[in-house]
Amino acid sequence: MGFEKFGRKSFTGMTKTAKFVDLLQEGKVEGTVCKQCGAKYFPPRADCAACLSKEMDWFEVPKKGKVETFTTAYYAPFGFEKDCPYTMGVVDFGDGTKLFARIAAKPEEVQVGMDVTVRTITYEDGQVSFEMAKA
Ligand SMILES: [Zn+2]
Repeated sequence: MGFEKFGRKSFTGMTKTAKFVDLLQEGKVEGTVCKQCGAKYFPPRADCAACLSKEMDWFEVPKKGKVETFTTAYYAPFGFEKDCPYTMGVVDFGDGTKLFARIAAKPEEVQVGMDVTVRTITYEDGQVSFEMAKA
């Protein structure tokens, strides 16, 4: 339990990585890292896909990166209708980790290679998530 508060619209109530939401509420965006082989995961996984270990730790993702690619949604899925248009993209931290997130900027302001920071966000209805913003 505890995952209902994630995202604009949460479609998942239960997960082994529900601590992710608690961390977001503390202002931290964290993934998981395997204690056995060091593989890093974002979104966080409870089990390592590389070595099948269940021994995982949490790590805070880097704060700054660059937009690698992006797209703008002009038609939204259920629960996101009021947000259109909105832009999503992949941020590359340059250390082998990447993250997919909304970009808090007008579509015409977003460019590949743009410096961004990753931050947590609390929506007006109390849902929590994370997003990129111009650095
Ligand atoms: Zn592993």
